[in-house]
Amino acid sequence: MPPTVYATWVPSPGHRYGDHPESPARLSALADLPQAHDGTIWLEAPLAPLDAITRAHHPNYVAYLQQVVRHGPAVIDYAPTYVTPTSFEDARRAAGGTLAVLDAVLRAPHARGFAWVRPPGHHATRTQAMGFCLFNNVAIAAHEALARGIEPIAIIDFDAHHGNGTQHIFLHDERVGFASTHQEDIYPGTGDFDDAEHARGRILNVPLPAGTDDEGYRQVYARVFEPWLARWRPALILVSAGFDAHWRDPLTQLGLSAQGFAQLARFLVQWANAWAQGRIVFVLEGGYDPQALAAAGRAVWAVLHDAPIPPDPIGPPPFAGPDVQDRIHYARRLHQLG
Ligand SMILES: [Zn+2]
Repeated sequence: MPPTVYATWVPSPGHRYGDHPESPARLSALADLPQAHDGTIWLEAPLAPLDAITRAHHPNYVAYLQQVVRHGPAVIDYAPTYVTPTSFEDARRAAGGTLAVLDAVLRAPHARGFAWVRPPGHHATRTQAMGFCLFNNVAIAAHEALARGIEPIAIIDFDAHHGNGTQHIFLHDERVGFASTHQEDIYPGTGDFDDAEHARGRILNVPLPAGTDDEGYRQVYARVFEPWLARWRPALILVSAGFDAHWRDPLTQLGLSAQGFAQLARFLVQWANAWAQGRIVFVLEGGYDPQALAAAGRAVWAVLHDAPIPPDPIGPPPFAGPDVQDRIHYARRLHQLG
């Protein structure tokens, strides 16, 4: 029987700023997605309750954001992170859609979810908008699950950038494990192996060299993330699904193809089945080449439906990825993964 996939669609057309790459065009390129497979249950995205948001964000920050959008459009952080007059509501709806998907997945056994939302979230810290992110959707969802007694939780972040905001929010929360692959030495500059020394075995960062390809990622997932998860045994897996690790992304220099993203999704679904009663929720983060985002997004979407991967109009990168064995050995040793 095909799995039930709960999803929501929050394109936030009012949240746009000139030719900024974090734009509604990102989701427009995926406009055929809702019709792609049977077995999807589409959910409305209500505004997230403020008390759900303030589990992850300081109330002063939420109040600031509510105020500052009134003077928008404006850039409120370097990167640049912008707001428009609709951004507070858009960000609440992105978080609310993510919570709706989470709620459905927690109620239905062996269900999967994907929140196709923007603005993205994983750079937003407890007190600050950063990196095109206003509210940290995945962190708000994790806090909601924790409030319902679901623990431990694993958050896995395959966005090309380090999920500094998520790490910050759960830095001292022993109930949440965080594992991130990201390109080294790019925005926001965090996510080194040595981040969060106090949380070895719980907060796991694997910075990767430019060009890291499908095979490099496969080895990191199989040899670092799998033993980490086997030990962590999460009751729920949340995924910060950033598609800017695609080789054609204009903001980064990694080497994943759509097939590579599908491979990561297969690992994640398999781990959810093994340890989390199948409970897994993907949340859209970055991805700034709309066609590449669409190709990779469709591939992951097919995996969630146990369906064949559709043809990829873009294909693999025209370069060979670097050897990442040293990163794998170092991460395994640092976190005592065998
Ligand atoms: Zn990113």
